[in-house]
Amino acid sequence: MTAIHTEHYPPSYYFSSLKYKQEYPVLTDAIDADICIIGGGFTGIASAVELAERGYKVVVLEAHKIGWGASGRNGGQLIRGIGHELEDFRNTIGQEGIDAITAMGIEANDVVIKRINKYQIDCDLTMGYCDLASKAKHMKSLAQDCQRLNNSDYGFDVKMLDKSELKQQVIGSDNFIGGMIDMGSGHLHPLNLCTGEAKTAADLGVEIYTDSPVSEIIPGNIITVKTSQGLVKANKVILAGNAYMDNLAPKNLPNIANKVLPAGSYIIATEPLDANIHQQLLPGNHAVCDLKIDLDYFRLSADKRLLFGGMCNYSGRDPKDIKAALYPKMLKVFPHLEGINIDYQWGGMIGIGANRLPQIGRLTDNIFYAQAYSGHGVNVTHMAAKLLAEAIHGESDRIKYFEQVKHFAFPGGKYLRSPLLALGMMYHKMLDAF
Ligand SMILES: Cc1cc2nc3c(=O)[nH]c(=O)nc-3n(C[C@H](O)[C@H](O)[C@H](O)COP(=O)(O)OP(=O)(O)OC[C@H]3O[C@@H](n4cnc5c(N)ncnc54)[C@H](O)[C@@H]3O)c2cc1C
Repeated sequence: MTAIHTEHYPPSYYFSSLKYKQEYPVLTDAIDADICIIGGGFTGIASAVELAERGYKVVVLEAHKIGWGASGRNGGQLIRGIGHELEDFRNTIGQEGIDAITAMGIEANDVVIKRINKYQIDCDLTMGYCDLASKAKHMKSLAQDCQRLNNSDYGFDVKMLDKSELKQQVIGSDNFIGGMIDMGSGHLHPLNLCTGEAKTAADLGVEIYTDSPVSEIIPGNIITVKTSQGLVKANKVILAGNAYMDNLAPKNLPNIANKVLPAGSYIIATEPLDANIHQQLLPGNHAVCDLKIDLDYFRLSADKRLLFGGMCNYSGRDPKDIKAALYPKMLKVFPHLEGINIDYQWGGMIGIGANRLPQIGRLTDNIFYAQAYSGHGVNVTHMAAKLLAEAIHGESDRIKYFEQVKHFAFPGGKYLRSPLLALGMMYHKMLDAF
């Protein structure tokens, strides 16, 4: 292990508390692999672990550092479920597909929890998550979810809370009328999970190269993947660059980059809070999220800072002052935090798809991809990785439910797409106000 190059990570709370400080080499040679994975976030690293566990020779190429993208910057909320409205896809995937993806939404959390336990990854996993309702229609839909989960074999405690129970057990704020607690979901330190999984992958024999951006992919029976100083010849490739990937797919293959819209999301971390304050804010130490379109998500860190996230920005440019934008939102929920210091502020790019179902599939028989988790990727990336490994290994064809769904490209170039989506989101925000 050598010293880590700090300038490559955003100045987040996560980076300041990074536990797995490995430095991986830059690719400077020509090497062979069974599978070459492009991108060292959750999708890429979890795929590497799954495939190495199945005996493949795997190479990961990361343009920056492991967990540099959304995987090392997110809210750390491990929330059950995949996609938003699976009913929207009934005509394509039928009841069988809806049931299969619903079950995978539960399996996804299990994959993460088992991985953490099996390899003893030190990432502050804490169980307990609560959806916060601010109007009657939220309570109605949560009650339906609650009933569905309790009638299934979910196996974790899930219950509805009214306003006073919510205040007593979950959140010291008057802004919400109730909520639903789910003890099968929770929160964790995402950069320590991602870098801890990378260490696991390396221990299993995966070759990881960082600061090695891929510039070209030449398809064929054996695929050539080029970086500026080296190349990999592989039988199979996985594209795992998500919102940070430009159009890397070879020109004669479908463009998947124009099907994922990068949208900024941002987080502030307070100074560590005294016990009497944090126990008042979030007495059960649950992760919480409200149900607005432009949602706020927050939780306590292991050292009892409030990590408050929110704001969705489609311009492709980060706000100049993240704290100035998020502080008032935090005070709206917790007015008594007025004056508290903010030690860290950062943001990252969420990959949004037009229909909000993750895009998991293949461009050819031997080029696979997974992207567009639409802000809900901590668990789903791990499920996608498992599906990719199962498909590559010929173990199952569960990936088919995702492959059957068509995904539309955002019209125009990178910069034209964003205002269009912003308009769409404004419309949804308007509806959300009623
Ligand atoms: C601020 C924020 C908060 C979020 N909060 C939550 C949350 O609480 N819960 C939740 O479930 N989800 C959350 N998400 C979403 C979640 O983080 C993502 O869905 C998930 O991390 C995506 O992982 P990924 O590996 O697909 O992409 P990333 O983690 O973005 O990784 C992609 C990697 O590919 C690399 N790459 C790109 N192009 C190349 C190339 N040409 N060559 C080599 N490497 C390349 C990039 O450098 C990057 O490291 C949040 C996202 C953000 C930004």
